[in-house]
Amino acid sequence: MAGSPQLTSALILGSIRYGDTSRIVRLLTRDFGMVSAIAKGALRPKSRFGASLQLLSEGQAHLLPSRSGDLHTLTAFDMTGWHGGLAADLERFRTASALAELATRFVPPMANPELFDQVLDAVGLIEAVPADALPVVGLRALWQLIAELGLGPSLDVCARDGVPVPHGAALFSLGDGGLLCPSCARGAGGSQLPIEAREALEALLTPGGDLPLLDERHGAAHRRLLVRWVGHHLGDGSLPALEAWQQAG
Ligand SMILES: [Zn+2]
Repeated sequence: MAGSPQLTSALILGSIRYGDTSRIVRLLTRDFGMVSAIAKGALRPKSRFGASLQLLSEGQAHLLPSRSGDLHTLTAFDMTGWHGGLAADLERFRTASALAELATRFVPPMANPELFDQVLDAVGLIEAVPADALPVVGLRALWQLIAELGLGPSLDVCARDGVPVPHGAALFSLGDGGLLCPSCARGAGGSQLPIEAREALEALLTPGGDLPLLDERHGAAHRRLLVRWVGHHLGDGSLPALEAWQQAG
């Protein structure tokens, strides 16, 4: 981020107290990726920030870039939207929290407008979809964030040698990074994905495509697969919100 004041669309994904009167917020921004910024005086009763710095507030962030580090200064936040409906519904809140946790941990401080728009759309959907569509909307939101980070699984071609994987059931190898062709699958470790599970995973990873129908048992299996994938490919360490999302439902 350059030295002069910057204005960018942003979504607040985290907020903690800092000292007696300030807050440090984690912002997913359209122009600078994931950044941290201090909102000085945000906890004072007559703060100019008012109630704008809440989880999942959407707006225009006025940022004063740090000269020396990664903690910038938030001088103002013009709130344009807040996904308040989420907080009232435990399942929606869990899903949005898992998405916020993944973004906060893994999105770098680099411009990625597609990723920003995708997360914003996903939060809107998580808030608004009918309850029975929520599990699959959550799976898609999380998988698409992972894919947008360049860390999605290989599904069309063999993760080991790039040979097309014939249609049908196939071996999914976490370590290799996706499906294996029949010859690589011989003797390899992994879990066999039945054709329906493979098609569902492909649908989840196809932006704008039809959402797959998953019953409770298959939904749970997809959540476990996603969490194992994150642990293996994005890094370990605790991801409490993602764990809570996996265990729910
Ligand atoms: Zn192969």
